[in-house]
Amino acid sequence: MNNFFDLTLRELEATIENLGLKPYRARQIFKWVYQQGVVDFEEMTNLPKGLRITLRNLFRLSLPVVAEKVRSEDGTMKFGFMTEDDKIIESVLIPEQNRNTLCVSSQIGCKMACRFCVTGKIGFVRNLSPGEIVGQVMAVKLMRRDTRISNIVFMGMGEPLDNLDPVLKALEILQDQMGLDFSHRHITLSTVGLLDPLKLIPGRAQIAISLNAATNEKRSFLMPINRIFPVEQLIGFVRELKEPRRERVTFEYILIKDFNDSLEDAEALAGLLKNIRCKINLISYNESPYTEFLSPDRERVDRFHAFLLDRHFTAIIRDSRGQDVLGGCGQLGAGYLKAREGGA
Ligand code: SF4
Repeated sequence: MNNFFDLTLRELEATIENLGLKPYRARQIFKWVYQQGVVDFEEMTNLPKGLRITLRNLFRLSLPVVAEKVRSEDGTMKFGFMTEDDKIIESVLIPEQNRNTLCVSSQIGCKMACRFCVTGKIGFVRNLSPGEIVGQVMAVKLMRRDTRISNIVFMGMGEPLDNLDPVLKALEILQDQMGLDFSHRHITLSTVGLLDPLKLIPGRAQIAISLNAATNEKRSFLMPINRIFPVEQLIGFVRELKEPRRERVTFEYILIKDFNDSLEDAEALAGLLKNIRCKINLISYNESPYTEFLSPDRERVDRFHAFLLDRHFTAIIRDSRGQDVLGGCGQLGAGYLKAREGGA
């Protein structure tokens, strides 16, 4: 039986038409589920009884089950969801003054093996289905009915562009006006820069590129993918983008103590991004027992930041949220490594 949350509206309409019914029924069902939060066909009272029974026989409304819910001192909430095959997916809800951002995972583990990232240490377990991606949003929405999720970022476990088709489908479902109706401006996809699939993203989501170093030598050390798509190719792609002015690419730069946090590094970054309309997010590295890197001193972060501002870049120091619950950037998936150490 198929999971309802894997379906786009177009697919549901096709199913409904195959049953000999009018396609508007599909729109009614989408509204019940995504707008009213009703996850039982029986409760969809404006549908004919027979259709409700048919839907129950065709689809399961299967959302990931909460296995863990931890609240950070700063209000960030990390959720561990159990999948149908007993794997854990992690998502992080980050409440801010004007918005509530949900960080979702696109894979369990990851193949990219970025040296600073806990998820990368797990290796690859499996891709998530569209329904498991959308399911993270729906599960949090239903659990926290008083919190409106305003933004979604694909920055949890996994490289979204390494799971392209399910991620594109999830974007379509999340943006459907009959459903959750997220604008593509409020969804950000963070990537190490897999160039071919990346070309499909403009217009579907905002792009954030995990850069972290301005030279090939340093970036290849941190991120093996840089040997395939070196810095100049990545920047060349961004330079050629014809984005509307308000949709600037974001570069994420994780500052690591004595590795990429010097003024020389800032200068190299400024040179690389010269004349590119972009945003730079500076993130202090979150230490982890599973990696060898250290957090930078605040004074060096401020100096790096000031250097970029002086050169008229839009650069923001992003406070890493939820570190105390291992919900910070690059920290997801530690449970898998702990279990492995324990021989589980
Ligand atoms: S930083 Fe992203 S792409 Fe790199 S290993 Fe971690 S999850 Fe994968």
